[in-house]
Amino acid sequence: MADLSRLSLNTATVKEQWSLAECIEGCARHGIPGIAPWRDKLHDYGLELAVKHIRDTGLKLSGLCRGGMFPAADEAGRQAALADNRLAVDEAKALDAACLVLVVGGLPEGSKDIAGARQQVRDGIAATLEYARTVGMPLAIEPLHPMYAADRACVNTMAQANDLCDELGEGLGVAVDVYHVWWDPDLEAQIARAGKNVLAFHTCDWLVPTTDLLLDRGMMGDGVIDIPQIRGWVEQTGFEGACEVEIFSADNWWRKDADEVLGTVKDRHLKFV
Ligand code: ZN
Repeated sequence: MADLSRLSLNTATVKEQWSLAECIEGCARHGIPGIAPWRDKLHDYGLELAVKHIRDTGLKLSGLCRGGMFPAADEAGRQAALADNRLAVDEAKALDAACLVLVVGGLPEGSKDIAGARQQVRDGIAATLEYARTVGMPLAIEPLHPMYAADRACVNTMAQANDLCDELGEGLGVAVDVYHVWWDPDLEAQIARAGKNVLAFHTCDWLVPTTDLLLDRGMMGDGVIDIPQIRGWVEQTGFEGACEVEIFSADNWWRKDADEVLGTVKDRHLKFV
């Protein structure tokens, strides 16, 4: 268990320091076998170049971040979101990603209708799933901590994500990110319920105090999450995918030398994941 064979680097972890090409080189240099790019960096690099570079280095994609952001104030907005999600599915397929991660979106501008937003999310996933099935790309709903319900994702618990999987069926699963779900009293049961639908596992830590809602995630071991316990529950489902390190840290890790960050990631993965 104590090796790096399951480790993957979500490129957000060194977002301020490195381009996607540098992230690919960095993973290869550090012996990190997995990578999970964000689409903004992918577009900066160019899909074809990225596909070739990743193939040449032998890295495996634990996921592509991200599709989603379905709710919109009008029909044109919803259609634009669906078109972008189809593109994201194609990119994930070209990169041979394990899944396309969905950050589903929150309230449309000016809206107070969270039930309506959740309905739009359900409909957006259903439409995207129909397309994703035709190319064989699994979609992974990432439930986000409730503090993001307004602006990032109105699917906030594993139970909600599991309900959507049960309703919409084949090809849809869940990304379990410890940062978002560690607090949930129902977590163990809901991971067990997800079963083979667990498609991704994201690690970092919850700092006390947390000084920023988005950009103050901790390195594994620096916070209060019992990561090995959650990993154990995830692996009891039969999940054999990567432990993907995903740290948004504007004032700390994004300011450090990226090679030093990757060194710390490897060390902490071995000790605290
Ligand atoms: Zn995540």
